[in-house]
Amino acid sequence: MNSLAVEVAGLVMRYGDTTAVDGLSLTVETGTVTAVLGPNGAGKTTTVETCEGYRRPQAGTVRVLGLDPVRDAARLRPRVGVMLQSGGAWSAAYPHEMLRYVSRLYADPLDVDSLIERLGLGGVGRTPYRRLSGGQQQRLALATALVGRPELVFLDEPTAGLDPQARRSTWELVDELRASGVTVVLTTHFMDEAERLADWVHVIDHGRLIASGSPKHLTSEGAENTIRLSAPAGIDTAGLVTALPAGSQVVEQSPGVYLVSGTVDPALLQGVTAWFATQGVLLDAIAVRRRTLEDVFLDLTGRELRS
Ligand code: ATP
Repeated sequence: MNSLAVEVAGLVMRYGDTTAVDGLSLTVETGTVTAVLGPNGAGKTTTVETCEGYRRPQAGTVRVLGLDPVRDAARLRPRVGVMLQSGGAWSAAYPHEMLRYVSRLYADPLDVDSLIERLGLGGVGRTPYRRLSGGQQQRLALATALVGRPELVFLDEPTAGLDPQARRSTWELVDELRASGVTVVLTTHFMDEAERLADWVHVIDHGRLIASGSPKHLTSEGAENTIRLSAPAGIDTAGLVTALPAGSQVVEQSPGVYLVSGTVDPALLQGVTAWFATQGVLLDAIAVRRRTLEDVFLDLTGRELRS
């Protein structure tokens, strides 16, 4: 079996003068949850829609489960679930009806009633699609993607516009998909979502891949975690450094605010607080600041992910 569920090589996609995807290459390992992370307009949706067979590559190649998403669409349809960013549902349809209809297209669908309950749509069976809230439409789209028991699902911004509780239940569902061996490709511009859910993250910007790795790997590269503390201005930073494990550094970032970097672990934290105790100085505040994917994006592009 091919260990790659998705292979994108040198993909180029343009809309008129706009180059949405600019020579993008990435792969998705079978059985992983892989996030395509990038700001609005980075080219995530265009890439995923090309993988789903809705767009033909203008240059480069795309393979999904070893097949061509356009030419082999009929063979892929029963194996791939798709959650589109903008519904695509008939506005007068009822959620139950829609899901039942879609489920009949598959050989071995999930039980529609339990899926509806699971996604908190039990109460809206008789509400037409157009009257559902944004979050309910979103969850229905997710249910539609999952009802056929796919091997691979594409989720485009699955939690955009959801309230925190609906967001958490979507995350749990993705965890369950992973546990049952389904390959999940999701796009997101929420770095916490990518960090929480993904085994592997592809960071894209302006249609190009700028970094790839596990969230742990990405956040441990380059700048280290730091300990940030507030204390009286002008402490003896050189004295503090000598009390800490080799390789540690201390800078007074602004008067009375210090950053300690190095291998941030319990020993370093203890070293810092022990030194202040020997000096008889009470710290005003101390916090371990972990590097996040937001920091990774900022380092790579000089911009915030959400800008
Ligand atoms: P978002 O999360 O906002 O959808 P994205 O990362 O998914 O962003 P795309 O939707 O793929 O990005 O868009 C990439 C670029 O292509 C953007 O500059 C966008 O304005 C442009 N674009 C996307 N779809 C079209 C279209 N149908 N016609 C013209 N330009 C488009």
